[in-house]
Amino acid sequence: MPTRQARPPPLQGLDDLKTAALIVAAGRGERADMGPSSLPKQYRPIGGLPVLARAVDAFARSGAVDAIQVVIRGEHRPLYDKAVGEASHKLLPPVTGRETRQESVCAGLEALAGLSPERVLVHDAARPFVSGDVIGRVSEALSRFDAVLPALPVIDTLKRGENGLVTASLDRAGLWAAQTPQGFRFAAILAAHRAAAKTGRSGFTDDTQLIEWQGGTVRLVQGSPRNIKLTTAQDFDMAEQRMFPGGMGETRTGFGFDVHAFCPGDHVWLCGVRVPHGRGLDGHSDADVGLHALTDALLGAIGDGDIGAHFPPGDPKWKGAASHLFLADAVRRVAALGGRVVNVDLTLICEAPKIGPHRESMRERIAEILVLEKGRVGVKATTSEKLGFTGRGEGIAANAVATVWLPRNE
Ligand code: MG
Repeated sequence: MPTRQARPPPLQGLDDLKTAALIVAAGRGERADMGPSSLPKQYRPIGGLPVLARAVDAFARSGAVDAIQVVIRGEHRPLYDKAVGEASHKLLPPVTGRETRQESVCAGLEALAGLSPERVLVHDAARPFVSGDVIGRVSEALSRFDAVLPALPVIDTLKRGENGLVTASLDRAGLWAAQTPQGFRFAAILAAHRAAAKTGRSGFTDDTQLIEWQGGTVRLVQGSPRNIKLTTAQDFDMAEQRMFPGGMGETRTGFGFDVHAFCPGDHVWLCGVRVPHGRGLDGHSDADVGLHALTDALLGAIGDGDIGAHFPPGDPKWKGAASHLFLADAVRRVAALGGRVVNVDLTLICEAPKIGPHRESMRERIAEILVLEKGRVGVKATTSEKLGFTGRGEGIAANAVATVWLPRNE
């Protein structure tokens, strides 16, 4: 693991924070049908990106949201760091939740209270497909109401049953299925949660319920059928199939090339692995020539510029940055198009250091950053037979290709 972490710039304008998103990811996330060894559901990859990272990304991209607070389980912190890390400059440090959802939301609100946001959008991490449209509708309605609920009219006929027999047919007229994010004037929802905690009221399964309990008005706005909640293993399978239906996508290939020159030092970073060497590599970031070539290959596959365009070398905030951030950003760009990485392959060109002893750890590290099986990551090395600048030991070059699956017409 890289020991250096690039610090994102501090959030601007927190003094007049308008809208914060509060993403609740503090559940155990375990279900028997997913198997005992599986990841908690909020950290399971879907289409190559963890569920929580998708949810965070939706709010990070929304112009209606200024800051993002995630509530996690304490023991999930390493999973959080790996899945989300510092994915967006809007992210606040995560807060540890408590046993129930209601208590966890309350913990998140208390953490935000010091920043005095005007509004908050409370969202369940298990809804990773929330769109900018839904976030925008909730946010827009909040300018006129204290609480806003995105929901869909119930279309199935509802029955009450007991012991396998129908005991009643319910009238579905006027019934709505609640989604998130639910939007609130911050002061109103904080007061409601504090009142519930003080009087020991528990068992609220969503947050607009607390406003109803307090006698407040909740405005309904249209949710989205895509904004599903992932609960069972079957939900995950269906979501994955919907994202990657057979024959509905296309395969793209991208190419990347990078060079860094040697400089005085005692190690180099290659493919996210610290390799001891008699010299270092010169560069604005950690000069990881392998991860830079891979990042450009991914960006090339989706026609989205290059590493220098997204992370200008002249920008002081990327000085000394660990390059896994660049690669993870490219993966997010692929995921944002509904795509996923199929495989990557890389060749490092140098006379020294020897790559062979580090090849497996490099493959593992790349697989980890790309959220990909190791079998889809190739790392190779060659010398250039003492020819050219690599042959003279002046630096290291890297070639990379990436294959990406993209849905059609997106
Ligand atoms: Mg470079």
